[in-house]
Amino acid sequence: MTIAVALDGPAGAGKSTIAKRAAAALDYIYVDTGALYRTVGLAATRRGIAPVDSPAVDALLKSIRVDLTFNDEGTQVVLLDGEDVSGEIRTPEASMMASAISAIPSVRAYLLDLQRSMAKTHNVIMDGRDIGTVVLPDAQVKIFLTASPEARAGRRYKELVEKGMDVRYEDILQDVLTRDYNDTHRETAPLKPAEGCVTVDTTDLDFEQSVAKIISVIKENTHGAE
Ligand code: C5P
Repeated sequence: MTIAVALDGPAGAGKSTIAKRAAAALDYIYVDTGALYRTVGLAATRRGIAPVDSPAVDALLKSIRVDLTFNDEGTQVVLLDGEDVSGEIRTPEASMMASAISAIPSVRAYLLDLQRSMAKTHNVIMDGRDIGTVVLPDAQVKIFLTASPEARAGRRYKELVEKGMDVRYEDILQDVLTRDYNDTHRETAPLKPAEGCVTVDTTDLDFEQSVAKIISVIKENTHGAE
């Protein structure tokens, strides 16, 4: 039997970095589902399709192929029609596009099987917004990882500046608040804590403390499952 850890929470809570480290420590595969929404968003941007134009987005979904693979270091690589777009989907513009396009039900349905199939074959920590509520409702462990909007914006700002991007903290905080609003208010699969989840607030935890907390929650809830 495979073990699934559903890790949901708002933008910038540190899900990806924390989950990556925890997955490596436990020898699980880390699946970043946000990358899939970002990739569909990128495909729409490239074709000049507005994320609110559902018929055009539906047509787009019929003409693209999104694949999830892993490189030799075990890092996820996302392919759009065979092209590695893992870097290109990381800009603030791609974040906003992903948030907008993820509200379209057909986009969510399109990515559902791909996400579920990953959990069938591997022990996974899957990070997203609706993993515990929709994608893997039977996951053995469900965690809702959160932090204050200011803490989340501050971390994302630091991350982007370290990558050499020219960004302003105020803009990042506004993006975080806008994405929170979009993600929690959409009709299909809104972001909310799954029933029976463990909530972990990392506002006052540093990175190592957050990783340790996540690993301990996973171990407590999978005791004897392997
Ligand atoms: O996690 P990340 O910030 O990369 O996600 C980008 C956007 O994709 C989110 O703001 C959210 O709107 C959407 N998303 C989603 N469901 C998921 C993962 C991401 O709606 N499971």
